[in-house]
Amino acid sequence: MRIDIITVLPQLLESPFQHSILKRAIDKGLVEVNLINLRDYSTQKQKSVDDYAFGGGAGMVMGIEPIANCITALKAERTYDEVIYTSPDGELLNQKISNQLSTLKNIIILCGHYKGVDQRVRDHFITKEISIGDYVLSGGELAAAVISDSIIRLIPGAMSDETSALTDSFQDNLLAPPVYTRPADYKGLKVPEILLSGHTANIENWRHEQSLLRTMERRPDLLK
Ligand code: SAH
Repeated sequence: MRIDIITVLPQLLESPFQHSILKRAIDKGLVEVNLINLRDYSTQKQKSVDDYAFGGGAGMVMGIEPIANCITALKAERTYDEVIYTSPDGELLNQKISNQLSTLKNIIILCGHYKGVDQRVRDHFITKEISIGDYVLSGGELAAAVISDSIIRLIPGAMSDETSALTDSFQDNLLAPPVYTRPADYKGLKVPEILLSGHTANIENWRHEQSLLRTMERRPDLLK
């Protein structure tokens, strides 16, 4: 898989891909992540990519020219399955969307800034708009990192234990059960007996039950 992230702040996105599961997936060649500096596609003096909003009002708007130049150049090299724009008014990211995206070959993620991008970009170049929550960020970079992380960990081989992703929250519309590790007794705080029993089937049943209970308690909407 290849993820091309278009941004005015590539430095901001370097660290998230240099650690842990994402780094390993990149090192293994399961995914290639490219940080593309939008300013490289600006034809303006001082490489600016934004301008005042038509009609007035506070805040700058990212213009169509550099973005169109950048996306067109990328598309000349390969076909993209999705061109995603990170936006608070986009579809709310969830595990189902991440699963779908993880099966694709090439995607672009465009990070907005300031007041966002010229609507014509969204109308003519973007195929999918994703929000990571009902709050406003300063820029799309952190959203792009969140989207990429949730996708990359699902690519087969990215996690050392293949089954781990399948037992995470939301994967089957249930929240994950509680987990414990050593010591089995911490100053009288004990781990549920069943987890020490070694009886795999009973442990599976207990975990499923706990998942259900937790989901009913915290996210009954998932069970509908
Ligand atoms: N004026 C816009 C917000 C702009 S915030 C509005 O009110 O809708 C600047 C940029 O940050 C956006 O263009 C988008 O790319 C990114 N961003 C902000 N909040 C986000 C969110 N919840 N999810 C995804 N991207 C977000």
